[in-house]
Amino acid sequence: MTQYKHIFEPLDLGFTTLKNRILMGSMHTGLEEEKNGFEKIAAYYAERAKGGVGLIISGGIAPNVQGWTGPFSARMSTKKHAKQHKVITDAVHIEGGKICMQILHAGRYGYHPFAVAPSAIKSPISPFKPFKLKQSGIKRTIRDFVNAAKLAKLAGYDGVEIMGSEGYLINQFISERTNKRTDNYGGSYENRMRLPIALVKQTREAVGTEFIIIYRLSMLDLVEKGSTWQEVVALGKEIEKVGATIINTGIGWHEARIPTIATSVPRAAFTWVTKKMKEELSIPLVTSNRINMPETAEKILAEGDADIISMARPFLADSEWVNKAEANKSDEINTCIGCNQACLDHVFARKVASCLVNPRACHETELNYLPSEIKKKIAVVGAGPAGLAASTIAAERGHDVTLFDSDKETGGQFNMAKQIPGKEEFYETIRYFNKQIELHGVTLKLNTRVTTEDLKAGNFDEVILATGIKPRTLKVEGIDHPKVINYIDVLKLKKPVGKRVAVIGAGGIGFDVSEYLTHEGESTSLNIDAWLNEWGIDKTLKARSGIEGITAEVHPSPREIFMFKRSKGKFGGNLGKTTGWIHRSSLKKKNVQFINNVQYTKIDDEGLHYVQNEVQKVLAVDTIVICAGQVPLKELVAPLETEGIKVHVVGGADIAAELDAKLAINQACRLAAKI
Ligand code: FAD
Ligand code: NAP
Ligand code: SF4
Repeated sequence: MTQYKHIFEPLDLGFTTLKNRILMGSMHTGLEEEKNGFEKIAAYYAERAKGGVGLIISGGIAPNVQGWTGPFSARMSTKKHAKQHKVITDAVHIEGGKICMQILHAGRYGYHPFAVAPSAIKSPISPFKPFKLKQSGIKRTIRDFVNAAKLAKLAGYDGVEIMGSEGYLINQFISERTNKRTDNYGGSYENRMRLPIALVKQTREAVGTEFIIIYRLSMLDLVEKGSTWQEVVALGKEIEKVGATIINTGIGWHEARIPTIATSVPRAAFTWVTKKMKEELSIPLVTSNRINMPETAEKILAEGDADIISMARPFLADSEWVNKAEANKSDEINTCIGCNQACLDHVFARKVASCLVNPRACHETELNYLPSEIKKKIAVVGAGPAGLAASTIAAERGHDVTLFDSDKETGGQFNMAKQIPGKEEFYETIRYFNKQIELHGVTLKLNTRVTTEDLKAGNFDEVILATGIKPRTLKVEGIDHPKVINYIDVLKLKKPVGKRVAVIGAGGIGFDVSEYLTHEGESTSLNIDAWLNEWGIDKTLKARSGIEGITAEVHPSPREIFMFKRSKGKFGGNLGKTTGWIHRSSLKKKNVQFINNVQYTKIDDEGLHYVQNEVQKVLAVDTIVICAGQVPLKELVAPLETEGIKVHVVGGADIAAELDAKLAINQACRLAAKI
């Protein structure tokens, strides 16, 4: 019997029943616009339906051209479109799943020249100024939404989700921030909520009673001039009245400068908002944001904070999430670590989404781990992310695999990453792979620094080298000064760090080390209330939009940190598109000083000497931490090749420049799939 009783309690919606309380939230994957995209999406959703998800919500589909998120985005406007979608709904239904289509009108977030909005005000996140919708345009938009819902029904969807949050068109009508109209769609709140009410009412009239309508309600806008709680409640009540089946929770507009789904957001950080709404409405409510493991989902449901749990990215990380939970195998779940590196960052770069910890996501038709025809004896050297992925997949396919690491534990650099405040989720990836080692019978040899002789003596058919990197050392006078250490000294060897610190290098590791050095005590990512205070979010819901007039309470840094880089330009420009701003903002809150466009000249008792704009300067510091990139560690390649042993090199050992865990795991999985 499952230990997650609340998750697996069916939900009767009157005309249909959801088999459990887990909903796969809407995610754009980029497959929609790919060649043979519909077949690929069908395979992707079918796997999730087979994995036990109670209800799937598709990626956002525009009701018309003006509503596109970008040029030529997927649209549901004609019978031809509906026919294309049939392959998706059939595939999900064959697997016993249910699927709703999300209707998403981007409004001023549309990244194209035809974007429309209630008022002609450009958004801070799109270069296109929208056209103001005329009254006739609003009427046409409502018709197009209704038409999209009718066509979704024709295509075999079990319902639709009307996207009313995250700052898209509907939100733009609701908020004074973006709606400056003086007609009956602007001014009073009653006027500003006219559009969503009309949309839901007319959709219900058009699709009949036996069709799910979910409305995604923006419960906390997190932008200046967003809605008050009273306004949100009033809208929720109206939406319930005009025929919505379920209300889903939306937190934060895309332009909000408060993180809502990044890894540093505590798990279930916003379910208290849905709980508040439950006091007001009687239809089922969905809660969302940073819920990634069954224990968290079960607790939310057991405490009555919501009726349904929405998770989106966790289903990229593991399509079998629900089945594993039902079988009490939560330790086998490949957990979404909230990094955004392969999902949202890809979508914003107009690339097909995938997942850092599961490169098969959205690539189900081309990357498969099929049983191998010949069983080989394989050595994998290095148990970092690349070696862990390569060894476990090779073993899953039937090979006899031995995994070596010189360290006392598996995980490689993830053992440093997991210690950064806000990156605690990285523990989960190591836990997942350790379980896979056990499940697939990989022979694990820790505390074993492997030599060419060892590998030769082992009679391996093939060797996968995943030995990672070594930190780059700098050629600067005084680099051997006792005040100079590197990130490994700080994070792994725990060498003491003084009160005034220069961090050399502003890549991902420079940022992470600075984050580490500016914290003391418990990470706020493990304490919801402390985290909400740190970002100035009002849990009493008295502040408009959840933030207006609230001062953030930041715990001061125990150290003064100065971050340096040689190049010009902004700090963190190479960090993830959807997360770089969070890292910058977090360090600014701790008063970290950013110093760019420098050349390092000397290190001595006085401190760090450098030249900036042709002026020689010196910064008195106690410690200098080098985070200046990495170089591959692959000394074993040449001797192994000389011995005639077949060697494959993956991860940091292959290319260290711009190598992150996403690339390391992807490369390793693709090799292991065909070895
Ligand atoms: P490694 O993780 O370096 O693993 C190599 C392993 O090989 C080590 O365990 C080592 O002990 C072992 N080894 C080496 N030589 C031998 C030998 N001769 N015999 C036996 N064992 C050997 N990446 C991201 O994508 N996102 C992030 O947010 C992120 N954050 C990071 C934060 C920090 C603080 C750090 C340090 C790194 C971070 N990274 C991040 C980078 C990421 O961890 C690396 O890209 C990834 O670990 C590379 O994987 P790998 O398996 O190639 O190498
Ligand atoms: P990195 O991103 O390449 O950054 C290296 C930094 O060192 C740069 O700021 C560079 O800036 C500086 N540098 C390079 N050569 C130098 C030299 N000879 N002398 C002085 N400074 C030098 O590498 P990293 O920070 O070590 O990160 C390693 C990998 O892990 C990267 O691929 C990164 O993406 C990944 N990672 C990702 C995250 C994440 O959050 N996504 C977090 C941590 C790590 P200048 O050239 O301007 O000086
Ligand atoms: Fe989660 Fe990162 Fe995978 Fe996206 S890429 S689904 S955030 S683990």
